[in-house]
Amino acid sequence: MIRDAARDFAQTELLPGVIERDNDQKFPAGAVKKMGELGFLGMMTDPAYNGGGMDTLSYVLAMEEISKIDASASVIMSVNNSLVCWGLETYGNEEQKQKYLTRLASGEIIGAFCLSEPEAGSDATSQRTTAIDQGDYYLLNGTKNWITNGNSASIYLVMAQTHVSKGHRGINCLIVEKDMDGFIVGKKEDKLGIRGSDTHSLMFTDVKVPKENRIGEEGFGFKFAMKTLSGGRIGIAAQALGIASGALELASKYATERKAFGKSISQHQAIAFKLADMATKIEAARLLVMKAAWLKDQGQNYDKASAMAKLYASEVAMEATVEAVQIHGGYGFVKEYHVERLMRDAKITQIYEGTSEIQRIVIARAVLDEASAIA
Ligand SMILES: Cc1cc2nc3c(=O)[nH]c(=O)nc-3n(C[C@H](O)[C@H](O)[C@H](O)COP(=O)(O)OP(=O)(O)OC[C@H]3O[C@@H](n4cnc5c(N)ncnc54)[C@H](O)[C@@H]3O)c2cc1C
Repeated sequence: MIRDAARDFAQTELLPGVIERDNDQKFPAGAVKKMGELGFLGMMTDPAYNGGGMDTLSYVLAMEEISKIDASASVIMSVNNSLVCWGLETYGNEEQKQKYLTRLASGEIIGAFCLSEPEAGSDATSQRTTAIDQGDYYLLNGTKNWITNGNSASIYLVMAQTHVSKGHRGINCLIVEKDMDGFIVGKKEDKLGIRGSDTHSLMFTDVKVPKENRIGEEGFGFKFAMKTLSGGRIGIAAQALGIASGALELASKYATERKAFGKSISQHQAIAFKLADMATKIEAARLLVMKAAWLKDQGQNYDKASAMAKLYASEVAMEATVEAVQIHGGYGFVKEYHVERLMRDAKITQIYEGTSEIQRIVIARAVLDEASAIA
């Protein structure tokens, strides 16, 4: 039911205008509002806070369908669901949940997750943004980079360094409201893909953030970010899976319609084998994504599984979209046939919420830990 609802929504609300939004870098505001009304923006949140009360498996099914058509819409959905709502629900206090989560989960407003900085990407411990303790508030100063929902969000979860001497244990996560004095949304990035999503830098100059807006205990911010990103990766893996399976659907249809040398190109074994390889790898990626989602739903550790799902699904997305363009020949190189956009959109899944290299570091650490536990 959830998959069908997401598929219907993607076909009727996202497909019309997706090429124009990509061209014009236009945020899909109307569709995002409808996603909220249909419950796609707080799928896993408890109904007590206006969420859908669904499990992670349901969420990845919806993410796959929406990503097949519009990966810009799905990253907006992913950030709101798995970074902002999940982070607040899991680690926020009751007051924060009532004040912010209820509005975020219903889609009345959307949120952003702000960890990256000009000089802190993969090495997220080198936070330069500071949150200096001033008694009943923190004084926030610094710049965040590449923030998804950067301009369209109303609530920002911002990581910042309070105690430099404590390293990553001195980082806090603060809930920042868009209209707080001293907060400025910087320039919008002109991107290769997911061009409908709004990615911005953010500037904070002497922003007074009340103490009650800190999530968790003093110094919990880095752990908050890492825990939240581990679940977020399942969403991005599902996004990659959707981009790949969308490309396969388009390529399969085109291959049966397009004729060359007196038969449909799908009758040429070179093309049929490409489809077979794409389908096999996509199925393997789907199983990894579902395994990670299932582990999370079972309350088991999913750090390695989510890293594997993201690493593999994003590689499959890149490979499958390149092949889909190839199967379309010259038509694959123009916008009308959608596959060139999917190819451009696929690339980001190897970069954000931890690059492929960082996923390999996470996986290798887990593998070595398991080996030393056996030894
Ligand atoms: C469109 C878009 C949206 C984004 N949205 C958000 C968001 O909402 N919130 C947010 O906080 N961030 C966001 N990001 C930032 C994103 O998470 C970072 O770009 C990413 O983590 C990589 O950081 P970096 O760009 O600084 O690259 P760097 O960390 O400088 O990495 C450069 C290269 O070096 C490699 N590398 C780095 N360290 C190692 C290592 N130890 N071993 C091997 N290789 C290594 C990397 O894998 C990469 O290939 C977004 C980025 C983009 C482009």
